[in-house]
Amino acid sequence: MRLKNDFAVSRRKMVDNQIRRRGISDPGLLDAMNQVPRHLFVDQSLWPRAYEDHPLPIGEGQTISQPYIVALMTDALGLTGSEKVLEIGTGCGYQTAVLAKLADWVISIELIRSLSRRAQQTLEELGIFNVNLHVADGTLGWPDEAPYDAIMVTAGGPEVPLPLTEQLAEGGRLVVPVGDAHVQDLLRVTRRGDQLVQENLGGCRFVKLVGEHGW
Ligand code: SAH
Repeated sequence: MRLKNDFAVSRRKMVDNQIRRRGISDPGLLDAMNQVPRHLFVDQSLWPRAYEDHPLPIGEGQTISQPYIVALMTDALGLTGSEKVLEIGTGCGYQTAVLAKLADWVISIELIRSLSRRAQQTLEELGIFNVNLHVADGTLGWPDEAPYDAIMVTAGGPEVPLPLTEQLAEGGRLVVPVGDAHVQDLLRVTRRGDQLVQENLGGCRFVKLVGEHGW
């Protein structure tokens, strides 16, 4: 039987040692990561490793991001609870679940149907319903629901996908890894009127963002 509350001690240690200790202090974010049972998003054979300080395979050659990277990217969006968020790269749905705890509504796009379907199932099992998952090329964004207060891309591309900046609301933040196929810089792009303000949050390493505005 799947229990929601098991691995609670590992989860608390993950939050304290990997996230709080590295300087992330937003209580809502730390609380969300304490609540979401990360192990349920990976294969049962990986449960004992689900709270370790690194990415893990989720099938189809893709990975669930390191917990600290999930925290760092979420923190960079500065969510307050009222936002409509677009996520590109649903993967296993773990990051989606964290976003759903901190925002009003999350629309998440994944290219690989089998991953999206499994993520949907896990999110439903956890009673997380303020999410809409779609199978599509997320480099095009999701114009139907635009503009977004926050957009997160959890795969690395060669450039900031133009449709995503176009779908940012005034004051909206886009967090996206940009670089070559091996290493990227985590960029935050903020819309201020017609201006896009870009900050570099540091080096990172993601699987490839493929698609029309990706690789
Ligand atoms: N946040 C996810 C990370 C998964 S890895 C998690 O925690 O599990 C990145 C994901 O982005 C992969 O599942 C990959 O299939 C997906 N992806 C890559 N390019 C994409 C695109 N253009 N549109 C949507 N998803 C994409």
